[in-house]
Amino acid sequence: MRIYADNAATTKMSKKAIEAMLPYFEEIYGNPSSLNTTGQIAAEALAKAREKIASLIGATSREIFFTSGGSEADNQAIITGARIGEKKGKKHIISTKFEHHAVLHTLNKLEKEGFEITLVDVNENGVVKAEDIEKAIREDTALVTVMFANNEIGTIQPIAEIGKICKDKGVLFHTDAVQAAGHLKINVDELNVDMLSVSAHKFHGPKGVGFLYCRRSVVLRTLIEGGAQERGKRAGTENLPGIAGMAAALEEAVENAEKNSNVLLPLRNRLMEGLEKIPHSKINGDKEKRLPGNVNICFEGIEGESLLLLLDEKGIEASSGSACTSGSLDPSHVLLSIGLPHDVAHGSLRLTITEENTKEEIDYIISSVTEVVDYLRQMSPVWEELVSGKREYIL
Ligand SMILES: *Cc1c(COP(=O)(O)O)cnc(C)c1O
Repeated sequence: MRIYADNAATTKMSKKAIEAMLPYFEEIYGNPSSLNTTGQIAAEALAKAREKIASLIGATSREIFFTSGGSEADNQAIITGARIGEKKGKKHIISTKFEHHAVLHTLNKLEKEGFEITLVDVNENGVVKAEDIEKAIREDTALVTVMFANNEIGTIQPIAEIGKICKDKGVLFHTDAVQAAGHLKINVDELNVDMLSVSAHKFHGPKGVGFLYCRRSVVLRTLIEGGAQERGKRAGTENLPGIAGMAAALEEAVENAEKNSNVLLPLRNRLMEGLEKIPHSKINGDKEKRLPGNVNICFEGIEGESLLLLLDEKGIEASSGSACTSGSLDPSHVLLSIGLPHDVAHGSLRLTITEENTKEEIDYIISSVTEVVDYLRQMSPVWEELVSGKREYIL
């Protein structure tokens, strides 16, 4: 038995998304920029996919720019905000401490160029306060970028509220909605966003494709120079199979979001409550304001890496923190941002499930994690010190 519980890293493609892609490998293989018939059929399909995606988020087609995924969309949005600000002498950007690295590393690059970056704190529940963003806004603030839902702890941020503040103050606002899309309702006007990033492989679409929504009042900057695709803002022959798959996957996810969430929430809560019974553990992030499939928990006295390996042997595929930071020995910047000490942040486990998981699988995960945590603690020198009173429990 293999139980995949790493859906925040990537998802299995849906049947509908796969079917939507197939014609573009076979009959409709033309280049949408070609004037011949096959090319024009492809161009029509591209326009249809763009319209569908736009309508699903309350935008117009002219505001959708296809990219290679969430990372590229984040980069392009932030560079755009920076360049627009720079022209007006504004070189201050606001974000938060627990953004995805696609955002944080782009901000690092701009900082080296002379931009000033303010990373606002998140509270211990993993939620950013809109008023903290408001307080950080200055005369020279060019851009605010805050993620919609966090990829490690699943916490949901008050995007509409932050967007309203930015709108009133005339500051550009971008949100990385990669984890939210397909799970939470997205309407770009209700959210008051100028730019919004999405990636298909997080909602059962294909990998290597995403889009950036950019409000018509904002002139997008290009990262990739070349042909005139994407209204001249992103060169390169369009990934039409990927785009068609993404449109189908987003439509399916949006249509079923409420139904899926009703199935998923009780499963997720069962998992969370079962794991919480393990002594000296702590659920990371707000229990209410979080994505329906996310559980993130710390266990004192163990290493997350060993936990993952032993769970994998039992057929449970989980992750510690985010897939992007595995391989580095630093504890997750997200867990540190919510105030967890280094020692505890090392013992974290992220399980991201879907509505297709069963109650039996959830119970198997609970019993396996309980068993493996106990086993690892028996071998842990840190745990021995805790039990013998030489060291104080943190959790
Ligand atoms: C996965 C993810 C990204 C990166 O998206 P890719 O399509 O893999 O480049 C960016 N932001 C968040 C919050 C993510 O979860």
